[in-house]
Formats: sequence, C-alpha cells, structure tokens
Amino acid sequence: MSEIFAKRRRIMMEHMQEGVAIIPAAPVRPYGNGLEYSYVPDSNFYYLTGYREPEAIAVLRPGHERPFVLFVRDNDSFAETWFGKRSGVKGALENYGADEAYPIGEFAAKLPELLNNKPKLFYRFGASEYDGTVLSAIAALRGKMRLGFYPPRTIIDPDLILGELRLFKNEAEEIDLFRKACQISSEAHIAVLKKLPFCNNEADLEGEFYLALRRLGAERVSFNTIVAAGVNGCTLHYEENRAALNRGDLVLIDAGAQYQGWCGDISRTYPISGTFSKEQAELYEIVLEAHRVAIAASRPGTTLDAIMAESVKVLSAGMVNLGFFPTKDVNSVIEEGLYKQYFMHRVSHWLGLDCHDVGDYHIGGKARIVDKGMAFSIEPGLYVAPGSGAPERYHGIGIRIEDDVLLTDNGCEVLTAVPKEINEIEAILAQAKNAN
Ligand code: MG
Repeated sequence: MSEIFAKRRRIMMEHMQEGVAIIPAAPVRPYGNGLEYSYVPDSNFYYLTGYREPEAIAVLRPGHERPFVLFVRDNDSFAETWFGKRSGVKGALENYGADEAYPIGEFAAKLPELLNNKPKLFYRFGASEYDGTVLSAIAALRGKMRLGFYPPRTIIDPDLILGELRLFKNEAEEIDLFRKACQISSEAHIAVLKKLPFCNNEADLEGEFYLALRRLGAERVSFNTIVAAGVNGCTLHYEENRAALNRGDLVLIDAGAQYQGWCGDISRTYPISGTFSKEQAELYEIVLEAHRVAIAASRPGTTLDAIMAESVKVLSAGMVNLGFFPTKDVNSVIEEGLYKQYFMHRVSHWLGLDCHDVGDYHIGGKARIVDKGMAFSIEPGLYVAPGSGAPERYHGIGIRIEDDVLLTDNGCEVLTAVPKEINEIEAILAQAKNAN
C-alpha cells in the first residue's frame, strides 16, 4: 500500500488537532431481488485508506498511540466463494496500515469507548447507515457523565477538512494517477471518433467507449456516459443512448474513465457524416473559441466566475453575430442573461476523485481565488432547442467541448487531449473511413 494514504491521514489528523473522526465506506446499494449496483467506493474513505471493500469504517484519533482504527468485513469462506476475496482483519493490519482492526460487527459495541472523552466528533450525519449507532453511543456516554465518561460536545462535518485537502492535487503520485485517468479518457474518446463512420446508433458509440476504457485499464466510467445525436444534444444530461445516428446531424459525447479512483471528464461533438455543415461549423467555432479563452484564462489568482465570464463573452458575441437575439448589444445579452437560453450551465466544476469533486466554490460568499493544484473542467457549449428564438437553421444543434485542466505555478496543464479543431476531426473521420 502506497505511503500516500498514511501521509493523508497524518495531515487530516493535524487539521483535526483533537477528537475523533468516523469515516464510513460507501454502502452496497441493492436493487431487484438480491442484486446490487456496481460498487463505487466513497472517495473520502478511499482517499484516507486506499481500501476499496464495502462494509468498512475508518476511525482516526489524533494524539492516540494507535491513531488509525479500521473496521472491516472479516474473512468468511462461504461469502468469499460467492463474492470474492476479502482483506479481513489481518489484511487491514498488514496491508492497509491499520494500528488496530476489528470485524465491522464490533463497531457498535466499541464506539462508546472510541468516543469517550473526545471533545469533537468529525462525522457526517445523513450520509451513511451509521447515524443511529453514533447517536446511541453519544447517548450511552451522556448517561455516565457522573462517572467521568463524556461524549463529544461538538460535531463537525469532516468534509470541512477533507474537501479542502482533496481540492488540491499537489502530490506527484496523485497527479500521475490523475493524468493517467485523463489519458485513458482521451484515448477512449479517440477510439470512439475512429469508429464513428461505422456506427449506426448512439449505443454503438457508448459501447466503443466502454470497451476502450476497460482495455486501457480503467475500472469504470467516471459518470454515466452521454451519447446524444442530433436534437438529443440539447438535453444536457441525456443518457438514453439508443437513438439512430442520422447523417447530417452532430453527435455530442460526454464521457470519462475512472482510473484508480481518479476521474477524467471529456466532451466532444462530431459530425456523423464526416463533415460539419455550414451552420454546425459556425456554432462549433464559437464554442471552440469560448473553450480556448477559458483555458487561456485558467491560472492561479483568478476565479471560476472570471473564467466563465470570458467564455460567456465569446458565446454571446458569437450568437449576436448570427442573429440569435433581437438586440445587437452583446453587453445587454450578458447582463440580462439572454445567453442562458442557449448556454444554461457553468463552464467548470472541480474534478478529482469524484467527477464533481469536493471543496467549496465560494469563500465568505465570494467566488474563491483558484490556486496551483486545483483541477476543473472547461466545458462551454451551445444548445439550440427547436422552438427557440434563434434562426431556424440552427435549431436542433447541441455542442459541448470539454477538457480537464490542472493549475500550475502560472497557468494550467490541460490533462486531456482529443482532437477538437474542425479540420483535425474531419481528417480523422475521412482517414478512418478510407482505412477500412
Ligand atoms: Mg462532462
């Protein structure tokens, strides 16, 4: 097990100073009769432990001589025959650096002792199945105060610390994994682009993306894949992915791979026929320019709001030029929010171990100043739904272009690399068609 998890626990405990943190693994989520959704570990728990099995809880107690306690599923030959190997208590001690480890079934009985005389409890209520257990342990201690047993009096959401720690990606080891997740996401997107001339349905493209990312070593998609052809591209989180691909339409693909927990998130929009129509190209170039200026503006010292404002300026001016609004005044399109009819989301979200990563976006009610080690998406788009006030020749066109950036000392590293210039995309599609 990498040293990085022990280092993160040390830093977490330095920030806690005192008290005890209880960080549960994500629950298994059942459906149907005896079936389960594919298991996705909780990112806070994984960040601190590197442990990927369900039914586990990490306890951190700074100042204690054995500060890291792990509760895990114990070995069970019957269950392991059905569902695979478990690390067990022995594995938790030997492979995951636990100072003490116990079967998960002992958590409720041990909790009062773990909380006793700890002034602060770092635990997130409403996020796991253990709220009742925690409340019972606090109540049990409260009943024994005359004997010198005291429960925590202050309860703090551990995300106040973990969100801030996870927001900054400054360790070489974690940056390498993050780069790899983005590289696999990029290669899988390029594989899909080359298959596009031979695909007839959105589902084909979704399948090609999944095949590529699994072959490249990723564990899963980092969010539900969006493959939206034609007017479906105007639905921001379209996930049906089963419509026919019609020549003459664009197809918007928003997809990412998760590798060792790290998430890539890329959107590209391609012409199904192999070439952009005049109207598609006009809108595409506006979005691409909005994407370029946002990446150029991504550096320490700015804010996500300021980066977005750069994109919105380009998008609004482009739409004004094409006659989208009764007015020709770009400032009023921005100030009155008229652009939001065609661009209704933000340009960026944090990115990391979660695709929509943790960490506050505002400090003291203001957009926070970004700094080295922060990572986010850059994803302007334009979505012209039928029935909108834009000129009819643009109706049904949805475009999004998204890359992932990591802030460096004085700019940003673009972690993703998939062709996005019109001539590049058209050349690759022509070449792919001819090669077959
Ligand atoms: Mg995305």
